Amino acid sequence: MLNKKSIEDIEVTGKKVLVRCDFNVPLQDGVITSDKRIVEALPTIKYLLEKGAKVILCSHMGKPHGIFTEGFSLNKKEKAKLAELPEADQAAAKAEMIKKAISDDSKKFTLKPVADRLNEYLDGKVVFASDIIGDDAKAKIAALENGKAVLLENVRFDERETKNDPQLSKALADLCDIYVNDAFGSAHRAHCSTAGVTEFVDTCVCGFLIQKEITIMGGALADPKRPFVAILGGAKVSDKIGVIQNLIDKVDTLIIGGGMAYTFFRAFGNNVGTSICEEDKLDLARELVEKAREKGVNFLLPVDNIIGREYSEDTTFMEIYSDSIPDGWMGLDIGEKTQELFAKTIKGAGTVVWNGPMGVSEWDNFAGGTIAVATAVADSGAVSIIGGGDSAAAVEKLGFADKMTHISTGGGASLEFLEGKELPGIACLENK
Ligand code: AMP
Repeated sequence: MLNKKSIEDIEVTGKKVLVRCDFNVPLQDGVITSDKRIVEALPTIKYLLEKGAKVILCSHMGKPHGIFTEGFSLNKKEKAKLAELPEADQAAAKAEMIKKAISDDSKKFTLKPVADRLNEYLDGKVVFASDIIGDDAKAKIAALENGKAVLLENVRFDERETKNDPQLSKALADLCDIYVNDAFGSAHRAHCSTAGVTEFVDTCVCGFLIQKEITIMGGALADPKRPFVAILGGAKVSDKIGVIQNLIDKVDTLIIGGGMAYTFFRAFGNNVGTSICEEDKLDLARELVEKAREKGVNFLLPVDNIIGREYSEDTTFMEIYSDSIPDGWMGLDIGEKTQELFAKTIKGAGTVVWNGPMGVSEWDNFAGGTIAVATAVADSGAVSIIGGGDSAAAVEKLGFADKMTHISTGGGASLEFLEGKELPGIACLENK
């Protein structure tokens, strides 16, 4: 199991500590609509401030253009638009697009609102730098007292960030003595601020958020309390193949719901109507079922489904057994008998890992299966780990968050973790 050094294992007083956070919060017209990610980052920041570190916070926000980079790249859509223009007009149109990107992105993707919100929680201890590695950041870092923090501007305003360019990594490293990664949601990406920077800093450790993710998720995978039940849902088998393959070696029961179930039904000759189905994954689905059988894993698929006429929120719907889906209908949720079957299995579990909804849970008519599973997990008393994304959203919406052992802060990152992959933003940190 991963055993990484954390901020508690090192001396931080008086040191310049660069902390990569996940402040990629939702904004509407410059106003933060959920500050959950900011709140989650507070324990690490508060600890460092209380210990008298000089804290340098950095994060990305959204997918802006690299507006701080000279000659930054336009996005695919803009490039396609340019290509449609007569060659003679392209240079002027490009200059206009660049001007617009700078004007729009500097307002839309600035971390300034995050600095303001942090100050509400941290009694005004945070100053905001209007650049990343530029004069403003350097001056504000040089003036930092112990127990105070500076938040750098959106690190993706430098185009080199997502390219993991060593020059930017080195420049970030030059700002600090110690590097702390606490952005689990970005740890599956090898970018300058999540991984590259560690090439140039001697002391690199994790913050409390990443520590919690690797201790709880890593612990469950390495030494689960049994029976170990994994519940996988969501749209496609192809997105979850890695997770199924990794978990099949570890779990006692594998529950499959959501759109991906229909590929399994089809693989065994059932009619699935117009349900979402990956025809090129039928062999794989059969192999996975066979592997589960060989390993003695209890493999559960829905026995009944809520099917709809079409893929729409208010379509006509009815309940039907899995082997009787008629032509012209599509499965949009698990049925009542399946809810009972899954709930019974979940309630007997020692450990539950859940990733992906049981149906189109965004729509009330097809959210019942996901709600039933969330309720069963909350009531199970098992060690419960919820992968990020839609299942986490469902659990939070239902007010069950407190009943879960752990809700991962990263969708993509938690999926890769469950696949057994080494995340670059964690691999680069020091082992204990
Ligand atoms: P994922 O990101 O792979 O976890 O998938 C989540 C998405 O799967 C959600 O947007 C759901 O609406 C969708 N989904 C779940 N079940 C079905 C289904 N039976 N048919 C179509 N989409 C589904």
